[in-house]
Amino acid sequence: MSDATKRIRIAIVGAGIAGLTAAIALQEEPHIDVQIYERASELREVGATIALGPNGLKILDKIGVSKALKDTVGFRNRTGRSMIYRHYQTDEVVSFDVHHGPVESKHHCARFFRPHLQKVLLEHVRPGRLHLHKSFKSIRREPSDQSLVIDFLDGSTAQADIILGADGIHSAVRRAYIPTSSALWTGHVFFRTVVPRSHFDHIADLPDEAVHYWGPDRTLFLSPLPKDLFAVVAAHQCDPNDPGHQYLAAGWDGDADIAALRVLYKDWSPLARSILDATPRIKVYPNTAAKELPTWILGNGRVTLAGDAAHAHGGAFAAGGSLAINDAWAFAQSVLYYFPREGGWRVRPDDAGLTEVVSLYERTRKPHTDKVQKTVQDRNQFLVDQIKMKQTDEELRAQMKNRRDLTWIHEHDVEAAFARAIPSKISEARL
Ligand SMILES: Cc1cc2nc3c(=O)[nH]c(=O)nc-3n(C[C@H](O)[C@H](O)[C@H](O)COP(=O)(O)OP(=O)(O)OC[C@H]3O[C@@H](n4cnc5c(N)ncnc54)[C@H](O)[C@@H]3O)c2cc1C
Repeated sequence: MSDATKRIRIAIVGAGIAGLTAAIALQEEPHIDVQIYERASELREVGATIALGPNGLKILDKIGVSKALKDTVGFRNRTGRSMIYRHYQTDEVVSFDVHHGPVESKHHCARFFRPHLQKVLLEHVRPGRLHLHKSFKSIRREPSDQSLVIDFLDGSTAQADIILGADGIHSAVRRAYIPTSSALWTGHVFFRTVVPRSHFDHIADLPDEAVHYWGPDRTLFLSPLPKDLFAVVAAHQCDPNDPGHQYLAAGWDGDADIAALRVLYKDWSPLARSILDATPRIKVYPNTAAKELPTWILGNGRVTLAGDAAHAHGGAFAAGGSLAINDAWAFAQSVLYYFPREGGWRVRPDDAGLTEVVSLYERTRKPHTDKVQKTVQDRNQFLVDQIKMKQTDEELRAQMKNRRDLTWIHEHDVEAAFARAIPSKISEARL
C-alpha cells in the first residue's frame, strides 16, 4: 500500500465548464490538492447561450451545484419538449424532441446565459483554488521526483502529479502533445446574442419556449432566458473550402453586421424577420471542429484532457457543456477510485499508477465522445453537401421529422459507463 499521507496534486488548465466542474468534484477531498490555472485575467461576461442536457444537469446535481438547476438560472420549456422545430416560412411546428428515459423535471434540458452558468460554478469553487492570468506554456518533468512542472507565459510555474488540460477547443495542452490536432473551420457559422427581452416587447407572437427554426442551409434558434433575457442564434452553412470567407476574418466573438444577417433571412416568416429586425447587435462565431484524438493518455500517463480540449466537436447538437461536465466528473471519479479518501490507495502515485487513473478515465469517456465526434463529422459533411443541392420543401420537412435520435448523447449515463470501466482485477504489482 502506498503512503496515504501524501497529497495528490492536480493542476487543471482552464476555468471553463470542464475545469470548474472537475475542481468542484475534487476540492473537498483532504488528500487531493486541486488548483485551476486560467489564462484570462478576469472571468468576464463573454458568450451567449449554452444548453445543458439531463446528462450534465444530473451530474451538477450530484456534486452539489444545485443552483444550476434553478429556474432563476436556466430556462426549461414548460411543455416538457426539449426542443421545438418550426418551419422557416410558415412558423408551424413540424416536430419536437422529448426526453426519453426517466428524467426528473429538474434535469430537463435547460438553456443558460453562459456567464450565469459559469458564475454559479465559480461560486462553488473554494477560495484560493483559481489562479487567473496563468496562460499555459509548456510542461516538463521535475528531475528530483519525476512529477510535472507547468510553465506559464508570465514566467511562473506550478507543480503537479496529474495535469488536466481543460483549456478549450484550441487547447495548448493538447497541442503540446499532439501538435497535428487542430480544430478547423467546418463552414458553419453561428451568430449569437443574448439581449434583454424588452427589445422584443412589441412582437406579439414572440416564442415563449426554446424553438429551432429550420430552413434550407440555415437555422434560427430562439429562447427566453432567466432574468428577462432572450437568446438569438442564427446559423448558416458556408463552403468550408473557401479560404477567404468573410466570416473567418471576423474571428471568434467578433462583431457581425446585423444588417447583412437580416438579408440572409429575408425570405423567412414575418415573425422570424421581425425578431431579427429588433435584434440590436450580434456576434459571429465561425465554427471549428477536429477529429477524435488517438489517445487521452499523455505525458507518461500524467496528463489528460477534458471538455473541448479532449473532443473538439464544435458544440454540435448543443452537447458541449454536458460532455464537459461528464468528463470532469469521470476524471474526478477515476482519481478517487485509485486514491480513495479513506486510504488503501490502489496504486502508487508514480507514472505507472497514474497511467491507471488516466486509463480508467479514458475508458469511461473516450468511446462515447469518439462516437459523438464521428456523428458530428457525418452531420457536418451532410450540411456541406446540402448547400450544393436545392432542397425542396418536402425534403426539408422530411429532414425535420426524421432527425437523428440523439437521446444517447443527451441522456448518456456517465455513472453507468464509469462502473463498467472499473477494472475487474487490480494488479498487486502496482502497489
Ligand atoms: C469565453 C467563452 C464563451 C463561450 N460562449 C459560448 C456560447 O455562448 N455558447 C456555446 O455553446 N459555447 C460557448 N463557449 C464554448 C463552451 O463553453 C464549450 O464548448 C463547452 O462548454 C466545453 O467547455 P470547456 O470547459 O471544455 O471549454 P471552454 O468553456 O472553452 O473553457 C476553456 C477555458 O480554458 C481557458 N484557456 C484557454 N487557453 C488557455 C491557456 N493556454 N492557459 C490557461 N487557460 C486557457 C479559457 O480561457 C477558458 O476559460 C464559450 C467558451 C468560452 C471560453
